[in-house]
Amino acid sequence: MSAPAPATPEPSPPTPGSPAPPLTDGPPDTGLHRVAGPSDARHCRRCGGALEAQQRGDRWRPVCRACGSIAFHNPAVGVAVVVRDDEGRVLLGRRSGSFAGQWCIPCGYVEWDEDVHDAARREFLEETGLEVRLGPVLAVHTNTHNPAQHTVGIWFSGTTVGGALAAADDLDAVEFFHPHQPPEPLAFPTDRLVLDQLAASPLHT
Ligand SMILES: [Zn+2]
Repeated sequence: MSAPAPATPEPSPPTPGSPAPPLTDGPPDTGLHRVAGPSDARHCRRCGGALEAQQRGDRWRPVCRACGSIAFHNPAVGVAVVVRDDEGRVLLGRRSGSFAGQWCIPCGYVEWDEDVHDAARREFLEETGLEVRLGPVLAVHTNTHNPAQHTVGIWFSGTTVGGALAAADDLDAVEFFHPHQPPEPLAFPTDRLVLDQLAASPLHT
């Protein structure tokens, strides 16, 4: 890449309470990715210094003027559990918080210090009232439908081992649907990929 670096002001020590200069996108005609950083981050998490966009490899990254740390912005990890009934129907939930009124395979985020399998079981129990035993991973996809929060989603198969079905937490309805006839609208494009996969595959629990 031979794109010129953006004009950068002379580095100056951060002044507590003073606003940092805004991060700017890379030149629009370079083909480079947009600045790979949180849109609301303006200060270094390590030292509090102001962040500025600097080209590193093929990406523009938020870099701390004071200590040089790069404020990497990586996808969060989401987990979902696919539970099917004897007819092969899949348990879906209608969301009540974000994406309210739209349907998804019960899911949630992995916490910072949480095992990915524990997270999948916890989220499913919180949202459906059902305890599950996890089976194999059915699918892994990158979700970019939300520009502010990209995720890597992992869909586990699951078998119910306890509890009583009731929508809770981020869901206000739970119901089994044939994977080729899901309710609309679906909240996440990647759930549709997984449902298409399930519709095309033999019953797998
Ligand atoms: Zn710093």
